[in-house]
Amino acid sequence: MHGNAVSGTNQSLISLLIVEDEPRYLESTRLLLAQYVHSIDSALTATQAYALLAERRYDLALLDLRLPDGNGHEIMAYIRAHHPDCRVIVASGDSQIESAIQSLRLGAYDYLRKPYEPEELIKTVRNVVRKLQLEHDNACMVHQLEQSEQWHRLLVNASPDVIYTLDADGRFTYLNDSIEGTLGYMPGELIGRDYTTLIAADQLEIALYHFNERRTGERATRNFELLLRRKDDLLSSLTERVSDQRVVVELSSMGMYRPTSLGMGEFLGTYGVVRDISARKQAEATITFQAYHDLLTGLPNRALFKDRLGQAMVHAKRHGQTMATLFLDMDRFKVVNDTLGHLVGDSLLQALAQRLRGCLREGDTLSRIGGDEFMLLLPHIRTRDNAAYIAQKIITSLKQPFNIEGNEIYAGMSIGIAIFPDDGDNIELLIKHADIAMYHAKDQGRNDYKFFTQDLHKSFTGRLAIENEMRHALEKQEFEVFYQPQVAFGSQRIRGMEALIRWNHPTRGLVSPNDFIPIAEESGLITPISEWVMGAACRQAKLWRDSALPPITMAINLSARQIEHPQFVEKFLHCLHKHMADGTGIEIEITETTLMRDMDGAVSKLRKLAEMGVEISIDDFGTGYSSLSYLKKLPINTIKIDRSFIHDLTGHMNNGSTIVAGIAAMAKGLKLKVVAEGVETREQLDYLQTLGCDTYQGYFFSRPVQAAAATELLTRGLALPID
Ligand code: C2E
Ligand code: CA
Ligand code: CA
Repeated sequence: MHGNAVSGTNQSLISLLIVEDEPRYLESTRLLLAQYVHSIDSALTATQAYALLAERRYDLALLDLRLPDGNGHEIMAYIRAHHPDCRVIVASGDSQIESAIQSLRLGAYDYLRKPYEPEELIKTVRNVVRKLQLEHDNACMVHQLEQSEQWHRLLVNASPDVIYTLDADGRFTYLNDSIEGTLGYMPGELIGRDYTTLIAADQLEIALYHFNERRTGERATRNFELLLRRKDDLLSSLTERVSDQRVVVELSSMGMYRPTSLGMGEFLGTYGVVRDISARKQAEATITFQAYHDLLTGLPNRALFKDRLGQAMVHAKRHGQTMATLFLDMDRFKVVNDTLGHLVGDSLLQALAQRLRGCLREGDTLSRIGGDEFMLLLPHIRTRDNAAYIAQKIITSLKQPFNIEGNEIYAGMSIGIAIFPDDGDNIELLIKHADIAMYHAKDQGRNDYKFFTQDLHKSFTGRLAIENEMRHALEKQEFEVFYQPQVAFGSQRIRGMEALIRWNHPTRGLVSPNDFIPIAEESGLITPISEWVMGAACRQAKLWRDSALPPITMAINLSARQIEHPQFVEKFLHCLHKHMADGTGIEIEITETTLMRDMDGAVSKLRKLAEMGVEISIDDFGTGYSSLSYLKKLPINTIKIDRSFIHDLTGHMNNGSTIVAGIAAMAKGLKLKVVAEGVETREQLDYLQTLGCDTYQGYFFSRPVQAAAATELLTRGLALPID
């Protein structure tokens, strides 16, 4: 390479060394060439010449052979050894031809015979200069070409896409480096091999005519999806390991033709670009999975369930088959979640899903459609008994407790079954009817299964319908508060009334709070409903107080959602002040579960109410995860023993009586009032009296009644059954 750039003007950027022992000659030569050559050095002796040559490089030397201190040929040898790029023009007065030949052998570029004509000198030098310039330009071009080729190679190899060419027979002629990252091959391994090496076995037919595309333009292959196999897949197929070694790619390819003056000529092969889209595919798959599955349990979600149900229905219709839809709802899941925390709740759901799966056959679809609700599709049943069998199998399997982080948890399930086509011939109806049947199972004591019947339909049309109707029930004033007396021991005097909400439904009649309070809690409607109950109960309490009847306590049920409300205390006190002066004569009933949800929050809120004279009663005592420690923390006045224990009382010592006796003794120790709920018989009453209960509530004394009837009871006294 030449360091000096050579310009196209007269004066080139060439460096010239003139070696000439005759000063006059030297000077005239120098002047003559100055207009063509940019930089000129001169030496009068060989010594000077060597000194200059040692210091810098020249493009051209004009050399006199005969020097006082040396021979021109020696200098030429030196130049050839140290400056091979430097051209030498020999100018000599030597007439011998040998001298000229010797000079040319030593690499002289030209030979000038002294004395020479100035024109001759100029012509020779210009000749060299032009040649040097051409060489230089050429070198530049070669360099540029090399660089641009490198540049293209770099671009091609830096591409994340595999770029390949095939010959006309489908053998690789070129592959960029990306092939290694994408499929694990080095380019060299594939050159000369058939393209089918890369195609997964079951894709050969699809790949045909695409990977070795012959078409061009619009009709060529563009973004064609294909499975290729990685190099290591060859091994995995030998070991019969399920292969995750396939790579999803998008292929674009086209035919290459030798251009001719007439247009497209001979087919040369294929040029193609292969883009690895596995990551994108994976992401798509994940998103699709998430859209159709419940992430906690990995089960299909409601959307996928409906989809499968729809497909199964079409199939069953066509073949005249029967199938079953089961609605499963875990009993008391809320209690677990509220008392043991969401993490335990989540683990329980996962374990539950696992166990349910174990009860199913291939082809059945189990789906989690929300909280603790599951749906099950049994697409192939012959009779209703088949569905009953599976339901029973599930219930039996749940007799074994779950062990979640050291907690032994029993998970009962209520199951509703709807049969296709008898109970509905569309998706929505079938699900709705299974839901209704499930509620019926819950009503009938839980942990059981029930089939849908048309009778059920009349009494109940499912939770969704209830939720919708409940929204309007408040405005339409369909709610009413009933009152049930709480009776003091011995005197049979009414000590208090429990306010119990009822829903006068326009078509279904009186709906039990058991059927709508849980739904109201879930949907948040409990807040306005409870506020309404409070208002009604406070108004009634005031009425009774003002009508000079003996003072009684008004017991109002509160739900967890209500207490958790940040303004609960303010709202409560506001309501009290609106209807009566303070909280005296008002008792609130809360369950253990409600308290456990947020112990500290509940304690501080309830203390504030207690300061206003409100009494606090623990409802359904004994059914939750009792922790006696909270009894000390809270300003509690009353414990209500759950009616399930009372129901079990027979007068003999049994499980129920031991519990009741235990609770009564404990309450006495803590100086708490004890209310026995659900007293229905004389026998129960007598037994409870021996245990030292002080207050009773139950059908034995009175069912919950409308306000007017309750006023009657307060004025006239109870009409007790005579034994
Ligand atoms: P609870 O607080 O345990 O109310 C007692 C339930 O036992 C009432 O059912 C009552 O009618 C019933 N009962 C009373 N004596 C007997 C008896 O001798 N035998 C039998 N088998 N049952 C008896 P009800 O009125 O259907 O209320 C059910 C539940 O609904 C209540 O249980 C309470 O948890 C909830 N609830 C009722 N009203 C309200 C309310 O205004 N707000 C809130 N948050 N919950 C309410
Ligand atoms: Ca109650
Ligand atoms: Ca109760």
